Amino acid sequence: MDSKVRVRFAPSPTGGLHIGGVRTVLFNYLFAKHHQGDFILRIEDTDQSRFVPGAEQYILDTLNWCGLTPNESPAHGGAYGPYRQSERKAIYQDYAKKLIQEGHAYYAFDTAQALEEKRKEIPNFQYSRAHRMEMKNSISLSEKEVAELLDQQIPYVIRIKIPDAEQVQFVDMIRGEVSFDASTVDDKVLLKADGMPTYHLAVVVDDYLMKITHAFRGEEWLPSAPVHILLWKYLFGLDKMPQWAHLPLILKPEGNGKLSKRDGERLGFPVFAMDWQDPKTQEKTIGFRERGFLPEAFVNLLAMMGWNNGTEQEIFTLDALITQFSIDRVHKAGAKFDYEKAKWFNQQWIQKTDNELLAPLVKPYLDAANIEVHEWAYLVKVIGAVKERCHLLPDFVSQSAFYFKAPEGIDTASIQSKWNSDKQDFFTALSNEYEKFAQVAEFPKDTLNLENHFKQLATDRPIKLGELLLAFRIMLVGGKFGPGVFDIVEAIELKDAAQRIRTCLSLLSTN
Ligand code: GLU
Repeated sequence: MDSKVRVRFAPSPTGGLHIGGVRTVLFNYLFAKHHQGDFILRIEDTDQSRFVPGAEQYILDTLNWCGLTPNESPAHGGAYGPYRQSERKAIYQDYAKKLIQEGHAYYAFDTAQALEEKRKEIPNFQYSRAHRMEMKNSISLSEKEVAELLDQQIPYVIRIKIPDAEQVQFVDMIRGEVSFDASTVDDKVLLKADGMPTYHLAVVVDDYLMKITHAFRGEEWLPSAPVHILLWKYLFGLDKMPQWAHLPLILKPEGNGKLSKRDGERLGFPVFAMDWQDPKTQEKTIGFRERGFLPEAFVNLLAMMGWNNGTEQEIFTLDALITQFSIDRVHKAGAKFDYEKAKWFNQQWIQKTDNELLAPLVKPYLDAANIEVHEWAYLVKVIGAVKERCHLLPDFVSQSAFYFKAPEGIDTASIQSKWNSDKQDFFTALSNEYEKFAQVAEFPKDTLNLENHFKQLATDRPIKLGELLLAFRIMLVGGKFGPGVFDIVEAIELKDAAQRIRTCLSLLSTN
């Protein structure tokens, strides 16, 4: 690349961040870092009516959680600030005026009411070549009339004058050559009556001023591209324009249409990166973070929605993604969202993550379930024992509660069906031995020895070892799950194991 790569993520702060948005961040970030470039976060808050307090902080927190730190942003600063468009208001006026002077834009004085009437009168009304002469603007009015209206400070907007017959073309890094017939595009507002630019003007001016070299954004912005290309041509020259890539959508699990927040609610999975509460409606939307996803897994699964390295490999660290990412390998087609697969990624990452690092992440879930952890080293050990069975961080609660306290709601029915006096005798003997050995320092309490001891005690009794082991497991953990039984005995220790056996024996009857 000739100049330093500079990419941007340019969200409007209107609410929580959809996973499609985070994937846009990720692909921008990976591309920038792969080319030793900069990743910029720019807040596009020019539409004050859609502004939601807290949304900018949420975006920053999400990037921080994912480890996708911007080089420049409203929070990090940088040489091309301010990074909030509302703070750049004065910058855009001159560009809008320049477009007017050069005949590429015009003043439009139509009132909201006049526009409303026009919309009623003409179905699918578009403010464009077909109707602009019927409206009140600096093309339809005389120079004198326009001068008077401006003099009287009649409110106006500035609209782009879309050319009559022009094919607007550009090369998209994912889609190849894209071409639009300009006559299908309406004369978009560039500057509003309050002096704020619209997104169309601001995005082009800022991409230019911030020296953006590549602009990757969601496919939903493709219809706006012709307006942006024309503005680039009129204001700065197409040779200065960033290279575009419109990223494929993340689709509903059924594959028809863009994955929406409502799909998550309907099917019971998160669609936002983190929990979000709308400050106006108080409506809550769940997030991947609070559902117990690790950020490494979240980033990994997003990368695989639309990209691969050409092999079957699916697990990547962020560093590996940076090294291997190439926009050529981003697919054109949308990627279906699969929550089971998302959980699989998380399970893989739980296995990969050190138990010491998982402990502080698991602890809050245990706290919330009123499970007391007395010793950190014990927690770390327990995590190692059960992690294989955990897809999400809250799974550690159900998978490990019995390590910290005797199980509640024991599945005695599963023991009872095959219970008899031989088993009753065996477990009575076992609990007595455990009580006794608990006092004896020399008794080796390791897994292997405990197993041998158990088998020894079972020898010569007319009972199947498998049945004994299953009953024992249920006594210790409450159900038919968990790691090796003797590992559990070793962890909870003999005295506790003896107590759990006794509790269970008192619940079982031999008749
Ligand atoms: N402000 C747009 C958004 O909310 C940015 C689109 C673009 O990247 O050009 O996503």
